[in-house]
Amino acid sequence: MGVLSAIREDVKFFGGFKLTFEHLTRPRVTRQYPDEKLPKQPRQHGRHVLNRYEDGMEKCIGCELCAGVCPADCIYVRGLDNPPDAPVSPGERYGYVYEINYLRCIHCDLCVEACPTEAITESKLFEFSFTNRADAIYTKAELLTGDDGKPKKMPWEDWREGDDALTSGWMRAVAPSGNASYEGEVQWSGELGYGVRAPEGGQSSRRDDAATGMLAVRDVLEGHLLDRDIPPAHRGMRGRLWRAKISAQRNRRKMQRSRDRLKELRGARAEAKAAKKRGGA
Ligand code: SF4
Ligand code: SF4
Repeated sequence: MGVLSAIREDVKFFGGFKLTFEHLTRPRVTRQYPDEKLPKQPRQHGRHVLNRYEDGMEKCIGCELCAGVCPADCIYVRGLDNPPDAPVSPGERYGYVYEINYLRCIHCDLCVEACPTEAITESKLFEFSFTNRADAIYTKAELLTGDDGKPKKMPWEDWREGDDALTSGWMRAVAPSGNASYEGEVQWSGELGYGVRAPEGGQSSRRDDAATGMLAVRDVLEGHLLDRDIPPAHRGMRGRLWRAKISAQRNRRKMQRSRDRLKELRGARAEAKAAKKRGGA
């Protein structure tokens, strides 16, 4: 074999690594979950929230429409007449029992759309788990917002920044109160009973991305691997250093655990030897 053909063979060999070398310079798609998470989508459907009005009154009037529309049959509501001297909701009745079974819920948001008072909405939280069936049934005690109008954060739930913001991820398809000037316009519902949310990009002819700070959903989906969707602290060299720090911390913890385990084993062995000696003596 001549020198030239030997070189050609070598080049062919390295050609096999073309794809590998190409990927070395591409942005990484894998993340150090759960330490590092991608930003959630603007209309992410997560765990539900039962909202109140600004004065603390409950929005739910116990009409059971949400339970009726739920395709997974996972909502159980019982309404009760409001006590005249201490009403719970502004309506005639209020939601006395309210339960959602998260082993069944498919987060379709139909309950949110059916609710006439915007009482039930969904937060962006999906990182919650259970170890038994009973815990998967959220009751009113867990679903109802706290006094600050924010969802209650249970110890077993992994809330991240923004998960409890903009939870009313749905839109009215009709003109509010029959007002003709709103025909053909999409209107956001009030946010957890506090203020009114601006239309999302692409949902209203009057949208203003600069004013609302929202990206059109399509743009977010297409660009989810671009820099703008990655938290600034996790980009470029800063991101690499951050990842290296996290991985060093993880390794340190692993080493410490191994050292502790070794120490424990040695201690147990020494104790067993001493006991054997004492028994022999
Ligand atoms: S999101 Fe869908 S499945 Fe879940 S409770 Fe609401 S209607 Fe039922
Ligand atoms: S959450 Fe809404 S739809 Fe469901 S019972 Fe209460 S008021 Fe009715």
